[in-house]
Amino acid sequence: MRDFSNHAQNRPAERDVSITDVQTCVVQGNFEWNIVAVHTDAGVTGIGESYRGGGVTDIMEYMKRFLVGENPLDVERLFRRMVTETSGHGGTTGKVVTAASGIEIALWDLAGKLFDLPVYQLLGGKYRDEIRIYCDCHAGESYEVEDGFHAAHDEDLYAPAAYADEAERVADMGFTALKFDLDQPFDNSPDPYNGRVQNEDIRRKVETVEAVRERIGDDIDLAFDVHWDYSIDSAKRLASKLEPYDLMWLEDVVPPENMAAQREVNRSTNTPLATGENRFRVHEFTELLYDFGVDVITPDPTTCGGLAESKAIANRAEENYIVFSPHNVCGPIGTMACVHLAAAVPNFDVLEYHALEVDWWDDLHDRDEDLITDGYIEVPERPGLGIGLDESTATEHLADPGTMFG
Ligand code: MG
Repeated sequence: MRDFSNHAQNRPAERDVSITDVQTCVVQGNFEWNIVAVHTDAGVTGIGESYRGGGVTDIMEYMKRFLVGENPLDVERLFRRMVTETSGHGGTTGKVVTAASGIEIALWDLAGKLFDLPVYQLLGGKYRDEIRIYCDCHAGESYEVEDGFHAAHDEDLYAPAAYADEAERVADMGFTALKFDLDQPFDNSPDPYNGRVQNEDIRRKVETVEAVRERIGDDIDLAFDVHWDYSIDSAKRLASKLEPYDLMWLEDVVPPENMAAQREVNRSTNTPLATGENRFRVHEFTELLYDFGVDVITPDPTTCGGLAESKAIANRAEENYIVFSPHNVCGPIGTMACVHLAAAVPNFDVLEYHALEVDWWDDLHDRDEDLITDGYIEVPERPGLGIGLDESTATEHLADPGTMFG
């Protein structure tokens, strides 16, 4: 066995800090929000969040054995140690990386608190004071906090006017960028196995985009997500038919395993394409970025490897003049981690917010003011992430009651 523990011991006493404990909880919002707290012998605790999904907090708890006694300031080394020791040599993707992402964010929060600096400063400084947010919107389908995902099968709920109504409502809140799913469950199109879309269905999708664009005008950025469902021919047809509507992007057109297929669609259309939310670490982005398979890269920092790994992906995107717009379905903790990253990335454009239906979103954090104002989040100047969990609200919404950490 190789030894991945700390071999760099030479540091002054004030930075000789040790991790003492790792605790987790799952807050049930419109997704499971996997929260982690990393405690130290300096009396300072860092908080982080990983992308949703079962088992993630179990893996975080398992990683505790590789963290206790370590110096939390070795953020990037500890990320590598967690991934390698938990997955075995050679394991580089999947939920292990997702779990390590949330802990990595907690380590940045800790470092910021210990140095009395905001996280963006540790990431290299900031390019902007406010982060532009795009709001993920829903027409007929929705994520209900109590019951999970609902796909209404009433066709009227997916009428183009229903999308336009929702777009107008959200734009009136001050958002300058919106996204909808273009999946419409009643038509089961594209075909779930061959990915081909019928003429009637492609016409309805185009009419939907047209209705939204007409309602909100040309100056609000507008994206649509199609969740990797299309064959190459259908993806090309849809993307080209949407060219008149000047989309911010069309997201996830073809399945993610085949980069050449993604590039093939991208080269066929002027509609910008986005993808990246289900990829891990820089290596799964490299070919996509250097082969120009994408116009906008959308990694999820709480999935793909945390803030340092996301910045490395953003840097590769910048080298190829590709825009960086992170995916985010987190609660306030993970969202604020993305805000610090977005502040520190030159080629950042817009960050996702996906919790419009959670009316206690702003009760879940410890700040006095709402996080989002007129479609922007101000980059915090408080140390660390500049946000904490409101533990009484979190306790009310635990996925597994009685498991709140203290
Ligand atoms: Mg998506």
